[in-house]
Amino acid sequence: MVQLTIRRQDGNTIWYETFDVEEKPGMTVLEALFQIQEKQDGSLCFRYSCRGAVCGSCAMLINRKPVLACRTQLSAVKSEVILESEKEEILLKHSSKDESKEDVLVEPLPNLRVIRDLIVDMDHFYRLVNSIEPWIHVSEKTGYEENIIEPSMQIQIEKYTNCILCATCHGNCPAAARDDKYLGPAALAKVWRFCLDPRSRREDVDKLTSQVNSKEGVWGCDVVYKCVAVCPKKVPPTTAILKMRENTKSKSD
Ligand code: SF4
Repeated sequence: MVQLTIRRQDGNTIWYETFDVEEKPGMTVLEALFQIQEKQDGSLCFRYSCRGAVCGSCAMLINRKPVLACRTQLSAVKSEVILESEKEEILLKHSSKDESKEDVLVEPLPNLRVIRDLIVDMDHFYRLVNSIEPWIHVSEKTGYEENIIEPSMQIQIEKYTNCILCATCHGNCPAAARDDKYLGPAALAKVWRFCLDPRSRREDVDKLTSQVNSKEGVWGCDVVYKCVAVCPKKVPPTTAILKMRENTKSKSD
């Protein structure tokens, strides 16, 4: 048996609750949540869709790390040390936790409003991404003809197009935590993706570059690589941010 201690929330009421889970070989934290929902508490709320790290819906904090629940195996996290402060110990003591059993702490993704239990409101995150118009504005002269880019350039762009909009990076970002106007790692990585793309119209690239040349954009980042550390798709937002800072500086020199 493994214990899952879950942060629950209903309106303004927050509590921690511990459930025993019968561990099966290869079981993920998402599957453990299903087991609890099916056998113990049907009111437990969490979000999921593909179950295969493609949709990004099941991002949450597991032992205080932002991860996708569908790709996190119970066996990998059940013996991690999770208690970091006295306050947390007090909270956990209020639950029915059994100290003799291995356990896992499960909480919603930070920096976004909690709707219920492990479900967060993604609107704010999507609004930030939408604000940079995350689609390509191609030059009109290309018409309906094939618009080819070099394979070497495609390789450079690809690491940014792999983003699945899971908001894991946003949940681990100290700048997003203190400033809700900060565009955040996912949106900024997308801006760089369109700047790199030779099919983008240059006037749109200039517009995007000047849009992010602010403290809500590339200058708001703490450059601590916390987004890079947790991205399940290996997107490197901090690298994109630093490249855009360099570009901005060289234009103003
Ligand atoms: Fe998720 Fe990575 Fe995209 Fe951030 S950059 S939203 S962590 S896939």
